[in-house]
This record gives sequence, C-alpha cells and structure tokens, in this order.
Amino acid sequence: MKRAIIVAIGNELVEGLIVDTNSKYLSSKLKNIGYYVIRTETVPDRLDIIVDRISCAINEADLVVTTGGLGPTEDDLTREAIAYCTNRKLLKNEKLAEKIMEKALKYYKRTPQSVLKQAMVIEGALVIDNPVGTAPGQYIEYEDKKIILLPGPPVELIPIFENIVESIKTEEALYTRRIKTIGIPEAVLMEDYKEIIYSNKDITVATMASYERGVEIRLTGSVELKSEIDGLIQKLVSILGHYVYATDDDEMKDVIFKLLFEKQKTVAFAESCTGGMISSTLVDVPGISSVYKGTIVAYSNESKIKLLGVKEETINKYGAVSEECVREMAMNARNIFKVDYAVAVSGIAGPSGGTREKPVGTVCIAFASENDLASETYNLRGDRQMIRARTTLLALDMLRRGILRCQG
Ligand code: AMP
Ligand code: MG
Repeated sequence: MKRAIIVAIGNELVEGLIVDTNSKYLSSKLKNIGYYVIRTETVPDRLDIIVDRISCAINEADLVVTTGGLGPTEDDLTREAIAYCTNRKLLKNEKLAEKIMEKALKYYKRTPQSVLKQAMVIEGALVIDNPVGTAPGQYIEYEDKKIILLPGPPVELIPIFENIVESIKTEEALYTRRIKTIGIPEAVLMEDYKEIIYSNKDITVATMASYERGVEIRLTGSVELKSEIDGLIQKLVSILGHYVYATDDDEMKDVIFKLLFEKQKTVAFAESCTGGMISSTLVDVPGISSVYKGTIVAYSNESKIKLLGVKEETINKYGAVSEECVREMAMNARNIFKVDYAVAVSGIAGPSGGTREKPVGTVCIAFASENDLASETYNLRGDRQMIRARTTLLALDMLRRGILRCQG
C-alpha cells in the first residue's frame, strides 16, 4: 500500500494555540483513496526545520502533503522549503500574479504587494485553484513521489484538496462503512456479535467508543469487498435494532432532523444541566427550523417553576434532579411550545453539588409526546464537560427512540 506523510506547518500549531484539524481531515480522506498514513507531524515556521522534516518525509513516503505556510508574510516558508528539498527554482507565474491581485482587490479592497509572494510557483508544479482565498495549492511530481502544498485555513484547504484528489487516487482504494450505536457497551457488543463482525478475515474491524458519540464499528476492505461489507452492515443494523442510531457520516443530530422532517413533527427542549447544549447541537443542522421550535434553559429551581411551571412541591419533595421534575418539565415544555415532542434534562454535572443519594453524574431525562411520557435516571462518569456532552447524546437518543415508538 502507498504511504503518505502529512506535515502541518505553523507556529500556532506547535505552540498549542490551535488544534491541527487539517491532518485529521486529510488522514481520513487519504485512507479512503488507498494511502496508509504513516505519520502526521506539526512543525514551526522555521525554514531549517521544515526542510529537514520534508526531506525525511519525501524519503519515507510516496505522497507528502503539507498544510500551512502559503500565506503572503515573512513566516510563510513552505514554497521555499519544498523548492529547496526538490532542488527546483521558485518562479513567478505572471498569470497567477494577475489573478491574485484581482482577488486581493476584491477581498481586501486594496492590493498589498506582499500577496505576490503567493504567485511564486515551484518549477514544474501544477497550480491548484483556491476558490476561497488568494493562496493557490501546488502539486509536484518529484522522482516517483507526489507532493501537495495546501494552505492552512481549513475553508481553503478542503476545496483545493477536493480539486486534486482524483490525480492522487491509488488502485488500492479502500471501502469503509460505519455503524454508530448507543445503549450497548463496547465489550458486550463485540462479544455478542463477533461471529458477524469478524466473519471475513479480509475485512478490517475497528471500534471507537466515545462519550459524545457512543460506540462506532468500522468495517474496511478493498473496493472488491463492497457488497460483502454492505451486507454485513445491513445484517448488523437489523440485528442490533434500536441500538444503531446512525450509519456512515450521519450523526445523531442528522438522524433526529431526518426523522422529524419525514413525519412533519416538531420538537422543543427544557434544559437544565446541559445549559442549551442540546439545542446548540441540533441547530448545527441546516434546515432545522422546520422542525425545532425552541428551548427553555431553566438552570435554577426558580426558573424551573416560573418559566416551565414545575410545581414547587415537586422540587421540594423529589429535588430538581428527579424523574418527577423532568417529567413535568417535558410535559410543560410540550404545551408551552405547542410541539409534538419535548425532551427535558436535569442533572448534576459537577464537580460540586453531588450528594450521597445523588452523586455527581446523576442525570434525569424525560420524553413527552401526546400519548407517551417516559423518563430515565443515568449515573454518568467523567468531568463536567463529558457529563454534559453525554447527557446531550442520551437526550437526543431518548427523543429518537420516542419518535420511533410513537410511529410504531
Ligand atoms: P497559513 O497562512 O497557510 O500558514 O495558515 C493560516 C491559518 O490557517 C492559521 O492561522 C490557522 O488559523 C489555520 N491553520 C493553519 N494550519 C492549520 C491546521 N493544521 N489545522 C487547522 N487550521 C490551521
Ligand atoms: Mg502560517
């Protein structure tokens, strides 16, 4: 299998100011087109270090992809470094220079001469158009190696990479399918269904368990195994039933949107410990306004009573973190927003606030529809952020199951 190395360039990366999301994106794309990514590394904006790392990468891999360092400033050194490593000249491309000046005028309302640095092209390189910014990508074939230079901003990198992806595809492209589950522990899942999951030794199995997404199973094999992989996925989906909430690129929020949209149903939330996270997660989905009506964030006992009409005695008797309380929150939110479904959460995200009966991580969730009122208490682990993220997933999953139940 062909090998690839990704070199992400930028002081902001090595100084820990931003996370290197470009490598994450590129790694997953390269895998799909048949590359084994043997290393991703981040390096500062220093010519000697960039040259050293890129020379090593060219020696070790069939494909080297760089991100960053293509801007117009002094510290943008990727073009120089790669010209040096490949023993080629950097030449000014006049046509590109004109185009960059036009873009600069459009984007910045002036034409700083510094942007012309971006018209410097490595001898023999193919210029890859940047539909979003001024710095184009460059693609070089050097000896039997391929090198791609991409700009740092993800909004620019992604379309440029998509423009070049066809030219670097290998024969050994892989086919991957995924299922995403919730409510069944990874160890149980892999034990009980191992006969199906591991039934073909040419299909690689990878699992990933996370608090925010549940347990994901990935099946990967050569493109020739497409129908076998599809068949296994179909089998798992039907055997695992409601445990499977999504397949492939879909996430919980997409599944919720599709279910509500198909059935023309509406939803609202009443959130306490998640503080709007459920709402914010769902609002990521374009078009959600057709099914989502709103959220009441009721963080205090007083606002649960005043905004959501929870009875004072319910809170006094059972506490704000109780199934009795979230059931009232959900029923009342459903009436306030005049929606088909409402989900309410209340919990102790910590680090303080826990008691012996209700330790940190105690979370109550309720679902209300016209004929259905369900609630559940969970004992979650992790820090404040993890508990809130897990609660969001569980609340959306309770909604998903509630919708499916209502529709038989
Ligand atoms: P550049 O001018 O090409 O060096 O990159 C400029 C900007 O792109 C940086 O300030 C970051 O905001 C973003 N960026 C650079 N490298 C990365 C990376 N590896 N992952 C995510 N964003 C990045
Ligand atoms: Mg930079």
